[in-house]
Amino acid sequence: MTAPLDPMPRFHPIVKHREQFRVAPNLLDYCAERARFTWAGARQRLDGLPDGRGLNIAHEAVDRHARGPLRDRVAIRWRGRHGAVRELSYAALAAETNRFANALRALGVGKGDAVFALAGRIPELYVAALGTLKNTSIFCPLFAAFGPDPIRQRLALGRARVLITTAALYERKIAALRDTLPQLEHVIVVGGGGAPPPGTHDWASLLERASDAFTIPPTAPEDAALLHFTSGTTGTPKGALHVHEAIVAHHATAWYALDFHPDDRFWCTADPGWVTGTSYGIVAPLAHGLTMLVDESDFDAERWYALLEEERISNWYTAPTAVRMLMKAGPELARKRDLSALRFVASVGEPLNPECVVWGQQTLGLAIHDNWWQTETGGIMIANCAALEVRPGSMGLPLPGIDAAIVRRGAGGAIEELGADQEGELALRPGWPSMFRAYLDEEARYRKCFAGGFYLSGDLARRDRDGWYWFVGRADDVIKSAGHLIGPFEVESALLEHPAVAEAAVIGKPDPVVGELVKAYVALRRGFEASDALRKEITGFARKRLGAAVAPKEIAFVASVPKTRSGKILRRLLRARELGLPEGDVSTLEEER
Ligand code: ATP
Ligand code: MG
Repeated sequence: MTAPLDPMPRFHPIVKHREQFRVAPNLLDYCAERARFTWAGARQRLDGLPDGRGLNIAHEAVDRHARGPLRDRVAIRWRGRHGAVRELSYAALAAETNRFANALRALGVGKGDAVFALAGRIPELYVAALGTLKNTSIFCPLFAAFGPDPIRQRLALGRARVLITTAALYERKIAALRDTLPQLEHVIVVGGGGAPPPGTHDWASLLERASDAFTIPPTAPEDAALLHFTSGTTGTPKGALHVHEAIVAHHATAWYALDFHPDDRFWCTADPGWVTGTSYGIVAPLAHGLTMLVDESDFDAERWYALLEEERISNWYTAPTAVRMLMKAGPELARKRDLSALRFVASVGEPLNPECVVWGQQTLGLAIHDNWWQTETGGIMIANCAALEVRPGSMGLPLPGIDAAIVRRGAGGAIEELGADQEGELALRPGWPSMFRAYLDEEARYRKCFAGGFYLSGDLARRDRDGWYWFVGRADDVIKSAGHLIGPFEVESALLEHPAVAEAAVIGKPDPVVGELVKAYVALRRGFEASDALRKEITGFARKRLGAAVAPKEIAFVASVPKTRSGKILRRLLRARELGLPEGDVSTLEEER
């Protein structure tokens, strides 16, 4: 392993005392842990397949617990949209996933074959994911709300041989596509009652016929395991391929960044259709033997607070958009609830505005810990950990085992490392286990991500003098105005501090004089009406905070800002609309309300 590039933080970054915690955080001494850490050591905390037959994600997540003292612990606690509750213990999950692996085998589906899922968050989705991994096939979850076109594109690109879906989704979205997908041999349909649609298998009968005993075949750490499509924030989504060795990173990073302890009850609100919902919504919590909540419903502020209370959630992993929507709903909903079980809250997917961190402290009594990673990195890379000082607006420090740097791409592809407080591209030294191994069918694009011994993330950031990383913007979103480089996040965060502002999205609008002028789209909180007077007031407020050069020159009021289904602000769409250009790939756009 290369020597850490990252300077150790200048100050010993522990500002909290052990006594301040109900449970001592896992990462208490950042510097010592960083110095001590090796990925080979992290691998030792896992089991490995019996008889040295390799490393398989599903063995670590399910079978090893099902054979030990945790066999009767609830692994998945599922809350249905309409009030149903289902629990699967580790033993039951092992049996069900064995059945599914046997069912795949009976269909002639084996190592390296792609098994896709298009379903809401139903228990069968989780069984399919883990059973597929047991069978050493490649699992690819798709978000159920995709329309037929994005579904077809992804199934074709991923060469799907098998698709698991529900009867309703099959009728609505898949039946008409079948003829265009010759490689899709088997469609397995969940529910629907009665006979399955022609040309499909019924999930229940398939599993009923299958044995609940299955031996995971030898699995090399480099065997392909998971395929994830990126969110499509900057363009057409890319298919990032991950391998079984990724489990080493899922396990270690969750221990550090989500502060998992043995008796935790964990809720990751992301859908498995996005990488977060798989790495930390399936694999990591189960690998740690926790009980995890799966909620079938979509966001609803009242329901979410009720779930936190009723399920006694201790660790909660969510996203800035969700936090902003909870803020929009007002603090009264939270005050009605007993959230005393909650110990640790983290967020990912977009920059977390300082205002959100403060809201967490005021409303939940807990800071929200931002962390940064990407589909490509497969796991958390930079994080605010439990024991460390939270610097609101910062993504935190690189986790042990992760060497990060801020770089500039120079002429001829040379990579120059930048010092403290300089803005540049966030780069990582390759070598962590959950790093993607390919973009499907895009070898050249994959190779372009690496230069000068780094993986280049495409995000702009800076590191402060103490070692904390601050997100500036996606390379494509940064605004160049009158010689300044302006990150939209900074402007959006300042706007959010105004009491009338619920959501803000900021873009550069071409301007003959300054190059690009800063334009903001603002959605108002309940109880506020759009007016010229309010526009002037918000403009003045932003000027005071940011200065005239950075504050928005134009503000447009909107009902909500366009977002991907994974909750990311789609600034490129606002830019295209502003310029009257084609909207580009909108397959991941959430319907605008
Ligand atoms: P695409 O690559 O298709 O444009 P995407 O980059 O949004 O989509 P993901 O891999 O889901 O797809 O998201 C990773 C990106 O999300 C990061 O590169 C970064 O821009 C943003 N992101 C994630 N977490 C954070 C965070 N804590 N702070 C700031 N940005 C974040
Ligand atoms: Mg990306």
